[in-house]
Amino acid sequence: MRQPLAVVGVRLCVGALLLAAAVTATPAAAGSSSRRNGAPSVPRAWVPPVKSDRWECIVIHHSATDFGGAARFDKGHRAKGWDELGYHFVIGNGSDTRDGQVEVGPRWTEQRHGAHCRSPEDYYNEHGIGICLVGNFDEGPPSAAQVQSLTKLVRFLCRKYDIPASHVYTHGGVTHQTRCPGKNFDLKSLRRSVR
Ligand SMILES: [Zn+2]
Repeated sequence: MRQPLAVVGVRLCVGALLLAAAVTATPAAAGSSSRRNGAPSVPRAWVPPVKSDRWECIVIHHSATDFGGAARFDKGHRAKGWDELGYHFVIGNGSDTRDGQVEVGPRWTEQRHGAHCRSPEDYYNEHGIGICLVGNFDEGPPSAAQVQSLTKLVRFLCRKYDIPASHVYTHGGVTHQTRCPGKNFDLKSLRRSVR
């Protein structure tokens, strides 16, 4: 398990196991939302303050843990020497944060590349929006609230950045080096609901 390229993604998921205490990541703004052109209202924090033409796809992960949230994963990623939380968004399961709560990471606010899906050329980190759902979906499916939030978020991102549903991927689907986000994660259904 020391092969550098292949294993990073797995380690990233497992990094969630590391303990954390302090809340350092910015939670999605509750209550405030932006609406324009009659489009469905989304939390203001989802709309980044700066423009970017970087985004071409979306990569879905699970944490492979029962507990977690942006702060815990941020701490775990820093403990491995990374600069900060590798994902752009984290969707809670009622452990560290509310079930279905969408946390927005600093990488999204700053429109920075992700650190969640290593591959040759690093395409998925450079151009992929990384979303992690808390939970282990090899053991059971995501909650209804998580699926609802994920669908809303992915739909918003696909429309905003002209990302086709066929460019919504799973971590294992692109690297073939991990089962992330687990056998119970339904990518087909997500893609259908985004179209
Ligand atoms: Zn993953």
